[in-house]
Amino acid sequence: MHLNKKLIFFWLAAVVTVSSCKSKKQDQEENKATETITVKAPDLNADSAFAYVARQVAFGPRVPNTEAHRRCGDYLIAKLKQFGCEVTVQSFTATTYDGIRLNARNIIGSINPNASKRIILASHWDSRPYADQDSVAKTRPVLGANDGASGVGVLLELARTVQQAGTKPGVGIDIIFFDAEDWGNSERARDEYVGFCLGSQYWSANKHKAGYSAYYGILLDMVGAKGATFQKEGYSMQYAPTIANKVWQTASQMGLNQYFVDSGRTGGSITDDHLPVNKVAKIPMIDIIHTHLESGNFFADWHTADDDMDNIDANTLKAVGQVVLQTLYQEE
Ligand SMILES: [Zn+2]
Repeated sequence: MHLNKKLIFFWLAAVVTVSSCKSKKQDQEENKATETITVKAPDLNADSAFAYVARQVAFGPRVPNTEAHRRCGDYLIAKLKQFGCEVTVQSFTATTYDGIRLNARNIIGSINPNASKRIILASHWDSRPYADQDSVAKTRPVLGANDGASGVGVLLELARTVQQAGTKPGVGIDIIFFDAEDWGNSERARDEYVGFCLGSQYWSANKHKAGYSAYYGILLDMVGAKGATFQKEGYSMQYAPTIANKVWQTASQMGLNQYFVDSGRTGGSITDDHLPVNKVAKIPMIDIIHTHLESGNFFADWHTADDDMDNIDANTLKAVGQVVLQTLYQEE
């Protein structure tokens, strides 16, 4: 994904303007109204989430058109089926900005497939073909433990937990593993997405079911690093502010503000898989993505040869998954 730094200051200014119009009393009343958690979601297992991340990384870099990529895709399909999801595989050919044709698959696992109110949970499952942010190994493919596998690992654990749970959420859930997210190049690609997000662009224009829509979506990206911080991201606040506010408020009720930081500031706008879903599919979708609070940059080993399991902390995976699951269980 790609950080559009020039947009940060616009959003900062907008947020400051809006919040200054609101009185302290109004803020307190809003918080009071949603203070209590009525339905408690079942507990995710942190070690299990960690193991699902490690399993993906063990295939090697999941770069499209490689054997590791194909085998990991097959693994994800099998796991979703094992967890009782109805699985749809959307195979397509993606053409990269540099003219390479990729054999790609978006993998969709549906829970409660007949429920009419549906929520999308998504993450990308491919990893980047070269570590261009590395100081040395710039042409080596990225393992993508955090950039890719972390979000997928959390969603696999979420599917397993729901299957085991005595009480299911009242809503339908569509877990979408987007392919071909990370082939972009912000210097060389000239399209709107600078070469990124090929799988989500394809899905947004060709949904896996005719007439498909969802109430909203939550994208997870880089959700596994120790001490990760998530700010309300710029496009999330532009297209889906109610959803972002709801998720961050849930995190706050759960005492997880050390991860879901709510400083009243909006973070930078990031070109990620939620953007075509918002713009083309017209489904409001937020992005839970790790950014550094001051610099706005991604985690230190982003797009380097060091994005390996040493980066991954089971507690972070669990915190993110638990907030997402709690949000689903609170839906009517
Ligand atoms: Zn990436």
